Amino acid sequence: MTKLLREAPPVSASSETLDPKNWDDIRALGHRMLDDMIDYAADIRDRPVWQPIPDQVRARFHAALPRQASDLGEVYREFTDFIVPYATGNVHPGFMGWVHGGGTAVGMLAEMLAAGLNANLGGRDHMPIEVERQIVEWTRQMFGFPDGASGIFVTGTSMANLMAVLVARTMALGRSVRRHGLGDDGALLTAYTSKAAHGCITKAMDISGFGSDALRCIGVDRFHRIDLQALRVQIALDRSAGLKPFLVVGSAGTVDIGAIDDLAALSALCREEGLWFHVDGAFGALGILSPELAPRLAGIENADSIALDFHKWGQVPYDAGFLMVRDGDRHRDAFAAPAAYLRRETRGLAANSPWPCDLGPDLSRGFRALKTWFTLKTYGTEKLGGVITRTCALAGYLEARVLAEPRLELMAPVQLNIVCFRYRAADASKVNGDIVMDIQESGIAAPSTTLLDGELAIRAAIVNHRTDVGDIDALISAVLEFGAQRSCSGDGLMLQVEQSPPLAM
Ligand SMILES: *Cc1c(COP(=O)(O)O)cnc(C)c1O
Repeated sequence: MTKLLREAPPVSASSETLDPKNWDDIRALGHRMLDDMIDYAADIRDRPVWQPIPDQVRARFHAALPRQASDLGEVYREFTDFIVPYATGNVHPGFMGWVHGGGTAVGMLAEMLAAGLNANLGGRDHMPIEVERQIVEWTRQMFGFPDGASGIFVTGTSMANLMAVLVARTMALGRSVRRHGLGDDGALLTAYTSKAAHGCITKAMDISGFGSDALRCIGVDRFHRIDLQALRVQIALDRSAGLKPFLVVGSAGTVDIGAIDDLAALSALCREEGLWFHVDGAFGALGILSPELAPRLAGIENADSIALDFHKWGQVPYDAGFLMVRDGDRHRDAFAAPAAYLRRETRGLAANSPWPCDLGPDLSRGFRALKTWFTLKTYGTEKLGGVITRTCALAGYLEARVLAEPRLELMAPVQLNIVCFRYRAADASKVNGDIVMDIQESGIAAPSTTLLDGELAIRAAIVNHRTDVGDIDALISAVLEFGAQRSCSGDGLMLQVEQSPPLAM
């Protein structure tokens, strides 16, 4: 070693760390942030559900890279003034657009605690991994999966569905597929789901190298459940053409109208045909916690894998997606990979194998399990199940109000927590699209739209635990009011909408 290298380089003083010089400064501001965010949840009804972002606010976020330090208090002010007022709105009970969870103050606090620990859940021997394993065990119990099942937190069900496709692929082609790629055998594999399934399943087939053409989207009945007879016919057709069916994805709660496939029949068919049975239970799977809904999920206990989101009906703050695989060995076959720097030991910090990095593509991972653990423990599954039951009862109430109102039309049977309806009008798709945007911009509520048989429907998905009868009434009133404006007057309309009284902030 040269003399040069042995000379210690100069090190700047310890005041150069990122920690505050005086911890009490950050403590005071931290307490204020906490109070503000608790108030945000407590007083959420005083705000509009959503409001458009003014151009000058958006422009502030096209600033140059900050090379110099700023005062934390000032940065926080920018957050309160320019970010908080223009959030998606899913914390608000009037948010019914898409399927978004409402979050809880408990989950928020847990997220802060997790950030404080700054744990990396890729692996190693530390208690946060045991917390994640506890959730795996609880989820296993929820769905009646056997010992030896494995599970992992991921961003969301889009990722969990993709991973399920990869597990099923490795099962079908053997572990060698991970070295050789799909090859000629892989090109013959075909998967099946329904036309009502979520688009991320098509995307999963695309990303995993099969191509979306290898996914057969089977027709549905009038309740949007997969047509089992058509599925059988397609599988037989594909087999006789020399193809190799390997995977069926059932839906437990479709995103447009909340349909649940006949999971018992699907699981029986998959067993008969030797196919991997995956359930996309993004929001619906947690219906298992509701004694009223659980019977409708019968058959899910036979799935080979289930994807679900604790961040939807489970009310855990984003993100908290989850994949559960019946046979943990199959799960590890798809993802475990040796690496010198990830060597496992029987003691010390590198013990406690297998690690979550053996169960998915991520190495570094956050502590999503903690907010889920706090949520499940603090509320208990009975109460969480009660919230799920109640959102369905509210959807039933909205359905009844739609049916009782001659100016409105129900567009799909209400099966769960999602109601699709529209305002009756000539050029109904255009008018209803405008009504939805008007309501969103009014701040009164936030429904979304979907297309049913080519017709645009107003879609209200009741997911938020805060949503109440009054919020449903407000939505109905808003649809009738904006509907009347949109369908009778023509040009003066935009003015009228802009002049409607501002909502309480
Ligand atoms: C939300 C949803 C998804 C996608 O889940 P993300 O958590 O948004 O990735 C997939 N399928 C269904 C049925 C969904 O409701």
